[in-house]
Amino acid sequence: MKIARVKVSHINMSFWGEFAARQDELHLVTLMATYPQYRHPLSSWFPAEAMCVVEIETEDGLVGTGWCEDYSHATSVIIDEHLSRLLIGADPLDRNRLWDQMYRSTMPYGRKGPALYAISAIDIALWDLAGKHFGQPVYQLLGGRARDEVPIYASHLHFTNEDEFTREAAEYVNRGFKAMKMRFLHGPADGRQGMNRNTELVQLLRETVGDNVDIMADAYMGWDLEYARTMCRMLAPFNMKWIEEPLLPDQIRDYATLRRDSPVPIAAGEHETTRYGFSQLIEAEAVDIIQFDIGRVGGFSEAKRVCTLAQAAGLPVYTHAYGTPTLHLATSDTAIGMVEYFPVPVWDRIDEAPHFDGTAIPVDGKLMLGDEPGLGATLDLPGFTAIT
Ligand SMILES: [Mg+2]
Repeated sequence: MKIARVKVSHINMSFWGEFAARQDELHLVTLMATYPQYRHPLSSWFPAEAMCVVEIETEDGLVGTGWCEDYSHATSVIIDEHLSRLLIGADPLDRNRLWDQMYRSTMPYGRKGPALYAISAIDIALWDLAGKHFGQPVYQLLGGRARDEVPIYASHLHFTNEDEFTREAAEYVNRGFKAMKMRFLHGPADGRQGMNRNTELVQLLRETVGDNVDIMADAYMGWDLEYARTMCRMLAPFNMKWIEEPLLPDQIRDYATLRRDSPVPIAAGEHETTRYGFSQLIEAEAVDIIQFDIGRVGGFSEAKRVCTLAQAAGLPVYTHAYGTPTLHLATSDTAIGMVEYFPVPVWDRIDEAPHFDGTAIPVDGKLMLGDEPGLGATLDLPGFTAIT
């Protein structure tokens, strides 16, 4: 079997659907919040939201599909102008060899960021193709089911006002979610008052959902070490499951210092890639929880390796983002404790429809995959027409 064609589509749509526009209205803390001109909105500095879809077609007309983010067209250009050259004529089932060839050949500009996103999307497409070739779902090729249902946490809790915030949190509990994550609004630029407000909102969430639901909060890299240490001490009474990305991904030493003292577990990894990047985090004892994104870390092939590293180090994995590839991995590997999911808030008027990759809506905070070959995904994206 040989690869005959690699088709790359750049889609002007956020990975996060309508939520990207909604998020832009909210005053969240981000890693750019120390610059007043970039404090709000997110779109004042964030790259244009876009996705890359890669379809790999064999000489016999079998097609595998993968996807990832495509900020500044960086990923689609890397696939189109470089990696497709390595794929054409190769056996698509040689996933380990192709991964290594792609990783080595992108070294002059790669190692992290878009080069790894490109490799991730291609690797996901190759696993989809392999599944279709063997007539098996991807989780079957990954070793079969380790669980029937994948636990999912609600990750769309944004503060607008206290009424909507508490109604939304209570609704997630009613819908059966056992865990939910909110976003912090404040960072160092907002001083002591912001620290108190961060604390009040976590307290409000804990009081709203009671003691039997896990709560988490995301700082989107918007803090520094001193601020994070103080915040972790202030948040200690609320029994949080984790605080997410308090620091920049490269501040590994600061992460290790924070983690050593923090009464709240520290999670990170959505901006980290490959076994090598995660080895550094693990060896430095920088985090309590690993959060790779399958569309960034290096696809299925590399995500499996990171799961093994994390499990051997005694660290749980709670994956970043939602979608069919992650659900296949989590179905086959119990190193993953929960998958992030973005329910529509009750106060929003958008109807909850299947995710853009066709994934169903979870029930009672859990989702079970079917047995369609490959990923079993059908992409519903504006302007995208799949190879048929
Ligand atoms: Mg996050």
